[in-house]
Amino acid sequence: MDIDRPTDLDAALAALAGSPDATLLAGGTDLMVEINFGHRRPEHIIALRRVEELKELNGTIGSGVSWARLERGPHRGLAQAARTVGSPQIRAAGTIGGNLATASPAGDGLPFLAAVDASVELRSATGSRRLRWDEFLTGPKQNALTQGELIHSIVLPDEMPTRQEFGKVGVRNAMVISAVMACVVRFEDGRTRVAVGSAGPTTLRMRSAEDLISDEANPSETALSEFQRLVSEEVRPITDHRSTEAYRRHAAGVVARRLLERCLV
Ligand SMILES: Cc1cc2nc3c(=O)[nH]c(=O)nc-3n(C[C@H](O)[C@H](O)[C@H](O)COP(=O)(O)OP(=O)(O)OC[C@H]3O[C@@H](n4cnc5c(N)ncnc54)[C@H](O)[C@@H]3O)c2cc1C
Repeated sequence: MDIDRPTDLDAALAALAGSPDATLLAGGTDLMVEINFGHRRPEHIIALRRVEELKELNGTIGSGVSWARLERGPHRGLAQAARTVGSPQIRAAGTIGGNLATASPAGDGLPFLAAVDASVELRSATGSRRLRWDEFLTGPKQNALTQGELIHSIVLPDEMPTRQEFGKVGVRNAMVISAVMACVVRFEDGRTRVAVGSAGPTTLRMRSAEDLISDEANPSETALSEFQRLVSEEVRPITDHRSTEAYRRHAAGVVARRLLERCLV
C-alpha cells in the first residue's frame, strides 16, 4: 500500500490529481473499521492529518477539525453533537469532514449542518465548488464528491440562529450510534428549523413542522403537540438492528419537541 503524507493543501491536491482513485484518510475512525473488516482494500492512501489548512476553525469549519475541538467550538448545536460522538479517543481522532464524507444517516454532525443550511466547499487541483448540504448528501453513505476532489471546509451562513439544540436517542447514554437524533434551531424572529438523522435515507429537514412553529411567537400546548405529530409524520425511518420504524417515528417527534422547548426558554 502506498501512503502519501502531504503537509499542505497544494501537495494534497497534487497527490490526489496524480492518483484520483486514492483513498483519503483523516482520523481513520470510519476508514480503518472498513479496512479491518475487509470491506475496503485501498492501494493508495493520502493522509490528510498534517494538512493544517484543513484544520482551520474561524468563520468556516475545516474538514480536518476534530470532534474534540468542536466540543469546545462556538456553535452550540454542533458542540452538543460533538460531545455525543464515540469516546474521547474517537473524538480526538475523528473529524467533521470524515463524518460528512461517510454520509451515514447516523452521522451526528449532519443534523446541525442541515438545520443551519450549511454548504460544503470541495477542492481539486483544478478548482473549487460549493454545494448546499442537501446537494452534497445524495443518499445513504453517498455523497457528491467526484474523483480528484476532497472536502475542504464547511461554510456556515452569515446569519446563524441564536438558539441551537441537539439531542440523540440510543440504547445507552454514551458510546452509542443513535437510533434517532435531531437538531432544532430558532432565530430571534421565530423562524425555526428542524433536522433529524437516523430516521431516513439521509438527514432530513422537517419542513411542515418548521412552517407550523415558525409562525408561533409563543407556541401553545396545542401547537407543540401538532409540531411533534408533524415531525413523527415527516420522518422516513426503517427498522434495522438499532431500532424499529415505529420507535424511531415516535422518538423523533418527542426529541424534536423537547429540543424546541429548550430553544423557547
Ligand atoms: C468506536 C466508534 C464510535 C463512533 N461513534 C460515532 C458516533 O457516536 N457518532 C458518529 O456520527 N460517528 C461515530 N463514529 C464514526 C466516526 O468516528 C465518524 O464518522 C468520524 O467523524 C469520521 O471521521 P474520520 O476523520 O475518522 O474519517 P476517516 O475514517 O478518516 O474517513 C472516513 C471517510 O471519509 C473520507 N474522507 C475523510 N476526510 C475527507 C476529506 N477531507 N475529503 C473527502 N473525503 C474524506 C475517507 O476517505 C473515508 O471514506 C464512530 C466510530 C467508531 C470507530
